[in-house]
Amino acid sequence: MPSEPNAPQTILILGGTSEAAELARDLVARHPDARVITSLAGRTREPATLAGEVRSGGFGGVEGLANFIRAERVTRMVDATHPFARQISANAIKAAKITGVPLDIRTRMPWAKKPGDIWIEVQGLKAAREALPTGARVLLALGSQHIGLFASREDVHFIVRMIDPPEHPLELPDHALILGRPGDTAAVETMLLIAHSITHIVCRNSGGKAAYAKIEAARQLGLPVIMVGR
Ligand code: NAP
Repeated sequence: MPSEPNAPQTILILGGTSEAAELARDLVARHPDARVITSLAGRTREPATLAGEVRSGGFGGVEGLANFIRAERVTRMVDATHPFARQISANAIKAAKITGVPLDIRTRMPWAKKPGDIWIEVQGLKAAREALPTGARVLLALGSQHIGLFASREDVHFIVRMIDPPEHPLELPDHALILGRPGDTAAVETMLLIAHSITHIVCRNSGGKAAYAKIEAARQLGLPVIMVGR
């Protein structure tokens, strides 16, 4: 919906990432007259506090998002979601087309391999599962919805880190559960990797700063990372 000149702006940020939180902070500071709304999927029970307004939960597909844009008179939409969150990004493109609201896509670049990185690059989580050797002790750095896929690897010990306690016991046969957010420095992640005698990390190539500390820690310890590409 095109906005009238000088009308207050309403900016909708599709969020759920640290970059989206930073953007909300920046927009609120730079545009005190604008309404800044961050949209979260509602997967995390106690999300970090965000600048501006927050709404939570799915919109109900493309039509639902378009309706929200019209109802809230959104003048600009920013897709700052996680690069593996493909459905909401596809919906944003379609809803922007339907409503005529400009869409700014800010998807992170993938991490690039650096000297000292030992990456086993695979396409897809099934390939990651097959790449693990028997007897490995694995930091499974994946969203809870992907954990069950590794249940058939009874010959591997998994360490799973989750922000919220799982609603049901994890399906993994041999595992330890750590509750908390990822460490933000390589030193913190190194301590975790050593404390659990980790031999491998499985993660997706998300890009960005927030999850990179474990990659640096693996490099310093010479540990292989099974890196799932986009
Ligand atoms: P997805 O597969 O692209 O989205 C599935 C559905 O969840 C969407 O169709 C939408 O429901 C709803 N949804 C997703 N993101 C939303 C948002 N920001 N606001 C409102 N509704 C949203 O997404 P996902 O991979 O499940 O990720 C969900 C959220 O977690 C995203 O916000 C993403 O930035 C964040 N996140 C994802 C990952 C990851 O690895 N995928 C990692 C870290 C953070 P409706 O169709 O009903 O609107």
